[in-house]
Amino acid sequence: MNSREAIAAISTPYGKGGIAVIRISGDGAITAAERIFVPFGNKTLSETQGNRAVYGKIFYNGEEIDDGIATLFRAPHSFTGEDTVEISCHGGIILANSVLEAAISAGCRYADAGEFTKRAFLNGKISLSQAEAVIGLIEASSEEAIKLSAAQSRGVLSEKIEDFRGRLTEIIASVYAYIDYPDEDLTDMTVSELLEHAEELKEDMIKLRLTYKIGRAVCEGITTAIVGKPNTGKSSLLNKILGKERAIVTAIPGTTRDTVEETVNVGRVTLRLCDTAGIHATEDIVEKIGVDRSKKLLREAELVLAVFDSGEELDDEDYNLIKELKDVSAEIIPIINKCDTLTRKPISLPKELGEPIHISALTGEGLETLYERISGLFVSEKIDYNTTPMISNARQNAALTLACEHMESAILALKSGFTQDIAGLDLELALGSLGELDGRTASSEITDCIFSRFCVGK
Ligand code: GDP
Repeated sequence: MNSREAIAAISTPYGKGGIAVIRISGDGAITAAERIFVPFGNKTLSETQGNRAVYGKIFYNGEEIDDGIATLFRAPHSFTGEDTVEISCHGGIILANSVLEAAISAGCRYADAGEFTKRAFLNGKISLSQAEAVIGLIEASSEEAIKLSAAQSRGVLSEKIEDFRGRLTEIIASVYAYIDYPDEDLTDMTVSELLEHAEELKEDMIKLRLTYKIGRAVCEGITTAIVGKPNTGKSSLLNKILGKERAIVTAIPGTTRDTVEETVNVGRVTLRLCDTAGIHATEDIVEKIGVDRSKKLLREAELVLAVFDSGEELDDEDYNLIKELKDVSAEIIPIINKCDTLTRKPISLPKELGEPIHISALTGEGLETLYERISGLFVSEKIDYNTTPMISNARQNAALTLACEHMESAILALKSGFTQDIAGLDLELALGSLGELDGRTASSEITDCIFSRFCVGK
C-alpha cells in the first residue's frame, strides 16, 4: 500500500449540520479535488496558491450536486504535511457522503481511522505524545482532562523530551570521546562533570515521571478500592458517588460477592471505583473468591477509601483491616459512615490511619469534603498545564520508567571506576527509551495501536 496515496474522509461528525467537511490528503489530492470541484473564479484548484479558500461548484458523476468552499493547503504546510484540500459542503448525511464518493471516484481511497493524524506524525508535523494528547482531547471526560490534553497537544511534553534528548546526546558524545581517545582532551566535560550532568538529567527525568500521578488521576482515572467490613456502607457509598444504582445494596452481611468497577469524575480527578467484598475472614467458598480479590485490589489500588460504621465500636475485623492497610502503598482516606444516625460520640480511629472524613452515604453529607480531599491528594491547585509537561498515559510512563532505569545503570557504571563502554551502552538505551516515548523509535505496532483509536476523518 502506498502510504502517500490520496485519502479522503468526512471530517465532521456524522449527522445533519450547517456544513460538512470532506478532507482529501496525499499525493494527487489537488488533482483529485480538481475533478470534483470547479472554482467560480478563473483559476483551477491546481493554479490556486496554498492556504487559500475558493468558492465553487461540486460535481459527482458529471452532475453538479452542491456549491461550497475548497480550502487548499500545499505540502508541507498542512496538518498532514501533504497536499490537502478540505471541501466544505452543505451538511446533510447523503450530500456529504456523495461528495466523499465523488472524491473516491476521482482517485482517492477511503481513509482509515486516524490516518490523517498518523500521516501528520509520519511527516514529522506532530510527535507521538502530541497525537496522544489529541486523542485525549477527543476522549476527555472532564474539563480538567481537556485543559491538560490541550496543553500537551501544543507540545509542552515534546519540548521537554527534546531537551532531555539533547542533553543525553551531549553526554553520550563525551563518553565515546573518552572511550575512543582516552589520552586526548576532546571533550568539554571532565569525568566528574559528566557524572554531574547525567545525575541532573536523571533527576529531571524522575521529576517528569512523577507527573504521571496527576496525568493518570486526570486522564485515565485513579484505581480506587472501597474497603471495610460488611454492612459499613461500601456499596451505598459507591452508589452515591456514581449517582446511580450499580452495585446491589443489601442489609445482609457479605452479599457484595464480586467486585464492580466504574469510572466517575470527582472534583478535578477521575476515579476508577471498585466496590469489594468486605475484607473479612469467611468460610463461604463463593465469598472467599471475592475476599481474595479484594486483597489483590488493595495491593493494586492507588487510593483506598476505608469505610467504618460510626455507630459501631471497632472490632477484630476492623482491626484486621487497619493492620492490612499498613502495608498498602496507596493513598488512604479513612471514612466514618452513617453520621446521619449518630446519637452519641462517633467512634475514633487509630491516629496512624490519618484524619477521617465523616459522611453519610445515605444523605450524601460530607461527600464534597471527601472529593476535595481526593483532588488535593492527586492534583495540586497551583498546577499550570500550559507550562508543565505531563505524562498522562501508561505507555508514556513505561517508556520513561525504562529511560530512568537505564540512566541509573549508566550512572552506576560511571561511578564504579568509569567503565565507559558499559555506561555508553546504557546511555544509548536511555536515549532509545526517550525516542520511544515521543515516537522517534516507537515500533509500528505501538503507533498503529495509537492511531487506530482515532475516528475516521481525524
Ligand atoms: P456494605 O456491605 O458495606 O456494602 O454495606 P451496604 O452499602 O450494603 O449498606 C449496609 C446497610 O447500611 C444498608 O441497609 C444501607 O442502607 C445502610 N447504610 C449504608 N450507608 C448508610 C448511611 O450513611 N446511613 C444510614 N442510616 N444507613 C446506611
